[in-house]
Amino acid sequence: MDSLKEEVLSRRTFAIISHPDAGKTTLTEKLLLFGGAIRDAGTVKGKKTGKYATSDWMEIEKQRGISVTSSVMQFDYQGFQVNILDTPGHQDFSEDTYRTLMAVDSAVMIVDAAKGIEAQTIKLFKVCRMRGIPIFTFINKLDRQGKPPLELLAELEEVLGIESFPMNWPIGMGKEFFGIYDRYYHRIEQFRADGEDRYLPLNEEGELMKEHPIQQSSLYDQMLEEVLLLDEAGNEFSKERVQNGTLTPVFFGSALTNFGVQTFLETYLQFAPAPQPRQSDVGEIDPTGDVFSGFVFKIQANMNPAHRDRIAFVRICSGKFERGMNVTLSRTGKSMKLSQSTQFLADDRSTVNEAVSGDIIGLYDTGTYQIGDTLVGGKDLFHFEKLPQFTPELFMKVSAKNVMKQKSFHKGVQQLVQEGAIQLYKTVRTEEYILGAVGQLQFEVFEHRMNKEYHSEVRMEPMGSKIALWIKNEKDVDESLSTSRNLLVKDRYDRLLFLFENDFASRWFQEKNPNIELYNLME
Ligand code: GDP
Repeated sequence: MDSLKEEVLSRRTFAIISHPDAGKTTLTEKLLLFGGAIRDAGTVKGKKTGKYATSDWMEIEKQRGISVTSSVMQFDYQGFQVNILDTPGHQDFSEDTYRTLMAVDSAVMIVDAAKGIEAQTIKLFKVCRMRGIPIFTFINKLDRQGKPPLELLAELEEVLGIESFPMNWPIGMGKEFFGIYDRYYHRIEQFRADGEDRYLPLNEEGELMKEHPIQQSSLYDQMLEEVLLLDEAGNEFSKERVQNGTLTPVFFGSALTNFGVQTFLETYLQFAPAPQPRQSDVGEIDPTGDVFSGFVFKIQANMNPAHRDRIAFVRICSGKFERGMNVTLSRTGKSMKLSQSTQFLADDRSTVNEAVSGDIIGLYDTGTYQIGDTLVGGKDLFHFEKLPQFTPELFMKVSAKNVMKQKSFHKGVQQLVQEGAIQLYKTVRTEEYILGAVGQLQFEVFEHRMNKEYHSEVRMEPMGSKIALWIKNEKDVDESLSTSRNLLVKDRYDRLLFLFENDFASRWFQEKNPNIELYNLME
């Protein structure tokens, strides 16, 4: 195998999707420490995994110039090069969070065992589903009492509609947590044991090879019963179904106590796909092809008023990036030199200035790039598939504070909308501007950039959250149907949609107007 191909096939690029507080930061930290500790024992002086003090962690951050909040984290593990892309939540939730999922080859979904499937997880899951990418589930916080594991599986299937295959199964929970019965590695992994005692091997019948006091416990019997149930009535494991995203392997563990994390990582790496081919207007682009290509999936604005520059994040889809190389922006046909690039790598490779398919590079941007732009290294230009539009949930009326400055206002709005920072709608007759976003942060960035970059002060009037549903049979709809509870607006492509006040309003509308077909962009 040639070396480029080998490099590409070693990449595993994923994002962690979860609801705030499920344990994403904690799991990410543990994964990074694994990568770091195992590759680079010199840095962390052979300390046992799971026993780092915060200060050690901060020291690693400092030395490597990374933090768990950085956008892309990279580490080597067992010959794989792992790229973890951050998907901001909380107040930072925005369309960029969704778009990040366009740049990964698989996703890890963390579920808090006590809370089950939560709202933000559902949203992110739907986006992964749309792309048909593999989803690996880590059910976290087993060191605390949570919902019964069978109930959690049922939730996966009922709430998310995905079938599951538990790779391991907990024995007890919370104070009585003994460990996990590993159906994949045929062993029991003990929660409160280190070193050789940690693993108890199983025989072919799935029973402990050596006697152990846990066998006297009712928790053990319960686990055996449940595993039998899974064997007989559960889904069959299928690598193919994992890889097409219709079956999620489920792992139980506790990120905080670093339990089950290594097992998860190692199994994940076996089944997670290497960089996949991407669709373009000239057909599929082979990730192991020689010619460089990539697309911009996220543009991070600098909120510091002293710096107008932004960073455009590019997912490499073929070939190799080298600092100083020439590429062409397919949208404009303009050629440019990629010299001012910054890589978001978590290890020494950041100084090598090379990256291949599956990797992410950050390019300093002074207004050149738009979300979805294709960059091509060769002479034959093409465009990757358009990134999807995501259904906004929050809306604001917006206008220029100073009526004398309409020109800069309109210019700013148009450019920020085009760049993908925010979505724009107009009321049908009066053409009033309404902004749509998936997270509050987008409005704040918009306001800030209008002010700083376009010298336009804006008046923003919150409309709250709305349910946006597009209309299939537009000719059957006219403005007389528009009310404050179901406002008729058009999007930037002049497609009509209703902004409903809530679920109730949309159902009521449908009952009154059964002939009008409504649809959600993301379903
Ligand atoms: P994020 O918001 O998803 O990034 O969640 P964090 O990683 O910040 O975790 C949220 C809280 O849950 C923190 O207080 C963590 O210490 C705690 N936490 C994370 N993992 C575990 C776990 O396995 N067990 C317990 N008991 N707490 C955990």
